[in-house]
Amino acid sequence: MDIILASRNKKKIRELKKIIEEGIVSQEETTVNILTPDDFPQCEEVEEDGETFEFNAIKKAVYVSKCSGLTAIADDSGIEVDALDGAPGVYSARYAGETSDDMANNRKLLDEIKDVPDEKRTARFVCCIALATGDKIMTFTGHVEGKIGRENRGENGFGYDPLFFPEEHNRTFAEMTDDEKHSMSHRGRALAKLQECLKDKGLK
Ligand code: IMP
Repeated sequence: MDIILASRNKKKIRELKKIIEEGIVSQEETTVNILTPDDFPQCEEVEEDGETFEFNAIKKAVYVSKCSGLTAIADDSGIEVDALDGAPGVYSARYAGETSDDMANNRKLLDEIKDVPDEKRTARFVCCIALATGDKIMTFTGHVEGKIGRENRGENGFGYDPLFFPEEHNRTFAEMTDDEKHSMSHRGRALAKLQECLKDKGLK
């Protein structure tokens, strides 16, 4: 079976692939071949212009499923910071500007909340996973609560990981192994719900 991941973010693809291969695809089953839009030159970039994670995830999954003819999985995710009324939210990838990178986004976030005391630096990662086969769509959302630190810590993961301390942990996501992060992350939780749904439908 072929599945296409509707993303061009290499680090996100790496995480999704690992969680799907180790969780959703069991050893005994027929092999699942995981592809990306780079395998289909006819798939163009999808503009993420929605105001919700769900809208963007559905838009990406439906477009990529239609242009590849395969079942597509899309992830739209981001971080909501309470002291910023939920920003950057759906704009997380381009918080410091259209061409911004992780470092610039993290710098901007630290700057925006530099005067916010520790107890008010609460935030959550949110991930909406959309599964589309043509027009048939299912969505699954996962959250993880935590706090924003005061400096980048750790080398693993991507995006805001070096700033995010998940609740009840004194290490950032970037200081954890992939498996530790996935066991509690928004993405791991959304994919676990997808896995449950496939089981309930007898698809796994
Ligand atoms: P999008 O879903 O492609 O719009 O981008 C999501 C953005 O949210 C990423 O570029 C990161 O900045 C941030 N983000 C989403 N998930 C994670 C995560 O697991 N760790 C750190 N940052 C994340």
